[in-house]
Amino acid sequence: MRKLLPVIVFLFGYFGNAQYKPEGTEFRPPLDIPIILAGTFGELRSNHFHAGVDIKTQQRQGLPVFAIEEGTVSRIKVSHWGYGKALYIAHPNGYTSVYAHLQKFSPEIEAYIKELQYRKQSYEVETFPEYGTLTLEKGDLIAYTGNTGGSSGPHLHFEIRNSLNEKPLNPLHYGFEVRDATNPTLQGVYAYPLSDGSRVNRSGRRVELSFRRQADGTYLADTLVAAGSIGFGVRAFDRQDMAANRNGIYKLRQMVNGDTYTDLEFASFSFGETRYINTLIDYPYYARNRSRIMKCYRDSGNRLSMYNSLVRDGRIDILEGRTYSVELELSDLAGNSTRLTIPVFGKREPLLTDEEEKRTPYYVRADKPASFQLEGAQVYFPADSFYENAFLDLKVVGDTVELHEPVLPLHRNFTLTFDVSSIPADQRRQTFIARLDRRNRPQYVRTFRRGNSFSMRSRELGHYTLARDTTAPKISPRNFKARQWLTNYRYLSLRISDDLSGIAEYSARLNGKWILMEYEPKTRTLTYNFDDRIGDARQCELEVTVTDNCGNETTYATTVFRR
Ligand SMILES: [Zn+2]
Repeated sequence: MRKLLPVIVFLFGYFGNAQYKPEGTEFRPPLDIPIILAGTFGELRSNHFHAGVDIKTQQRQGLPVFAIEEGTVSRIKVSHWGYGKALYIAHPNGYTSVYAHLQKFSPEIEAYIKELQYRKQSYEVETFPEYGTLTLEKGDLIAYTGNTGGSSGPHLHFEIRNSLNEKPLNPLHYGFEVRDATNPTLQGVYAYPLSDGSRVNRSGRRVELSFRRQADGTYLADTLVAAGSIGFGVRAFDRQDMAANRNGIYKLRQMVNGDTYTDLEFASFSFGETRYINTLIDYPYYARNRSRIMKCYRDSGNRLSMYNSLVRDGRIDILEGRTYSVELELSDLAGNSTRLTIPVFGKREPLLTDEEEKRTPYYVRADKPASFQLEGAQVYFPADSFYENAFLDLKVVGDTVELHEPVLPLHRNFTLTFDVSSIPADQRRQTFIARLDRRNRPQYVRTFRRGNSFSMRSRELGHYTLARDTTAPKISPRNFKARQWLTNYRYLSLRISDDLSGIAEYSARLNGKWILMEYEPKTRTLTYNFDDRIGDARQCELEVTVTDNCGNETTYATTVFRR
């Protein structure tokens, strides 16, 4: 009997359960270290679902990354933001694998992309190599792990997509071993009244329910007294073995008196639907608490496809005098699950307080465009900007336009236009539209300047104002000094920064020739690699120019020497 135990752990203690794995997919892992996740597929992120898994790289960069299957490089993208340096491989079995936030590519791919960067004179490039240009065998070295783009710590972002429709698929369905014997953690449970006159515990708004652990390991909530159409929401995370990361859960089920009402599973989705995450979460709660409640019911405007089944939109009609047993089950991909039972008793009790929706003169219907004239500004919302009809709170305070608060999610860009006729013409170039962040600091927003009007487009409500940037960026050497001998140096690095509107462009020349400088916004660093072998002369005249978003420009010139 003892000998059987490891087998049982093997069967139930791992992700990548064989029951999911489609035929013809014998992928090898992308890294040669045990897979520990800092992020799961479908995990709730800002305005999107996570399209892959984040594999921890032992707090290091530079770990070799391998092709999971033979194939051909179908796309390479280098960007300051998002995926940073990313590589896409199309495999003959119909899948595409994606590797992101890379430090650098393998020598062959690196040479290919550098040739393009020098030709286009740009660090940021994107290319779709012709089929067969860069072919790979399974297990070939393709890159090294890094922290480029919108990554906040070293890791490998890894995806598997269907090559035909580009839909990202849960990579853990393809046999990668991830140790996980830990049940999902339930952090909070919430009840929502969903129609006029429905209520939960004498409230017409969301209420949080208390719950406690039972002897059998399941959870039991206090009895909810409710009437009318109601729904539930949960705050939860899942942890894998050997890591503290709070990852997303894989499956959410809601049963009412034994019948499945909601079955939501993160197996696949499309990039076209990812922003509808804002209808799955309680967005106002998220805006205030930076924590996400996942609704077990479908709200208006929700066009998500991840429901295996959804009865009555996951809404429950509570009748007077009846009792209901609502069961919520959260599961991870290894089959660990956490269950909660919520007893509900149907009774219409008076509201403790009456809460009226705030009415304003600025009403938007979700399916209709709306345009509002404010003092010195105009705002236009195209149809389907909002998921639900709403009364907006719009006002102008001093020179700041207050567009509601960022508690309502938007699906499409609105346009905000400022009248700048009172600003002297010679000051306009340095003037830009800024969004005031949570601490009221102005953040540059891409500003379109046309005569007397400046406009911007955004999907974020909040406070916007006009700001002026008159200071040029700063440039300083980081690992060298002027007139220094740099014979044994592998790279040259400079720090660049801008005080207000931010860096828009940079370029560098060595003895008059354009050189590739890799820009890492997180560390404000520009780096040139001497291996590029531009300007092999003894005396190197370096010239770096940086421009901010208001056209203020700084040039730094110096001489260094190399043998
Ligand atoms: Zn990721």
